[in-house]
Amino acid sequence: MLAMNYRGPRRVRIDHKPMPTIKHPEDAIVRVTRSCICGSDLHLYNGNVPDTRVGMTFGHEFIGVVEEIGPEVHKVKVGDQVLVPFNIACGKCTFCQQGLYGNCHESNPQATAVGGIFGYSHTAGGYDGGQAEFVRVPYANFGPTVIPPEMDPDDAVLLTDVVPTGYQAAEMGGIQPGDTVVVFGAGPVGIMAARCAWLFGAGRVIVIDHVDYRLEFVRNYAPCEAYNFKEMDDPVLFIKKITDWLGADVCIDAVGAEAEGSALQTITGRKLLIQAGSATALHWAINSVKKGGIVSIVGVYGPTDNLVPIGNVVNKGITIRANQASVKRLLPRLIEHIQNGILNPKAMITHRVPLEEVAEAYNIFANKLDNCIKPVLIP
Ligand code: NAD
Ligand code: ZN
Repeated sequence: MLAMNYRGPRRVRIDHKPMPTIKHPEDAIVRVTRSCICGSDLHLYNGNVPDTRVGMTFGHEFIGVVEEIGPEVHKVKVGDQVLVPFNIACGKCTFCQQGLYGNCHESNPQATAVGGIFGYSHTAGGYDGGQAEFVRVPYANFGPTVIPPEMDPDDAVLLTDVVPTGYQAAEMGGIQPGDTVVVFGAGPVGIMAARCAWLFGAGRVIVIDHVDYRLEFVRNYAPCEAYNFKEMDDPVLFIKKITDWLGADVCIDAVGAEAEGSALQTITGRKLLIQAGSATALHWAINSVKKGGIVSIVGVYGPTDNLVPIGNVVNKGITIRANQASVKRLLPRLIEHIQNGILNPKAMITHRVPLEEVAEAYNIFANKLDNCIKPVLIP
């Protein structure tokens, strides 16, 4: 089959790989029909995630058709059109029982933090991902969800990650009616977080980025105020100024570890050392939230990054909430929001690219070319 193949930092190509096979009675094989590239893939692409091995296939946002099932799979059948949450979760372990599907113990037992994730390095279990014609889906009685027949596949594929992540970013913010919410990052995740902030009763939503076409998009889509930080002397001061010097009630980090800062990183074996300052958005969030406010982090960082200005957190009495999105927990209400027209995620898909052109799709998305917001690969 054809599959994306990671060759090293900023080098990916299309390749032939052996077909995946059923390895466990609860596995399914899914024939992929759409597979997105995510900002999280850029951390891998840029070589910033430890233990990302050459030869791996990325891709944790995909939908497809069930092609084959193991003998113990009874929740989906061959021929079903399914969306597959990016978290690989057993649905039964102590963490899954709490709805922490991003922290499943069974799918990544060696890790102390994250559960299994499709196509996300050996720190997330070493599973191959869905930027391929076929993919092995473990725990097929839990994760894969049959796509409602009337749902647009472009909406369905964004339910595997971006929609739940944006929604959970707003949810973790504990937004109270009338709150001022600042979202750092106008990528797909930040755009969705800004739109979802209104669902929790925000009174004002402000988005900060430096890519003008993305700011323009979110201004219309969320809708919200959107500002370019390159046009400010000091983004923290700017936010203070427009919030009566109090700061925002809630700040959301939808940026994560920065590729530019990462140029300063040194990878020593499997240990990742990051220079201070490569989490600018997180610093801005902590410094521009009001005293007693909440900072919600969905941006992805290296497992042991140590980047929080802890003194300000303590002195301001800030609450920090963070996690990988728990996709399966949120799916029922998000499917409803799409069906009711409250969310319209497919509007973010700007590029449809044949899987064969995966290298060019990464280049366009990583370098913010051609007004790209969200590219989807079509095998
Ligand atoms: P993206 O790369 O498309 O968007 C990131 C945006 O941040 C870009 O538009 C960039 O210009 C902007 N940016 C860079 N530095 C900034 C700064 N200092 N201040 C404000 N904006 C800045 O990525 P995405 O797909 O939108 O994902 C965003 C983040 O969310 C990534 O870190 C990704 O790994 C993470 N993510 C987390 C989860 C989760 O479950 N927690 C799921 C999906 C994605
Ligand atoms: Zn993703």
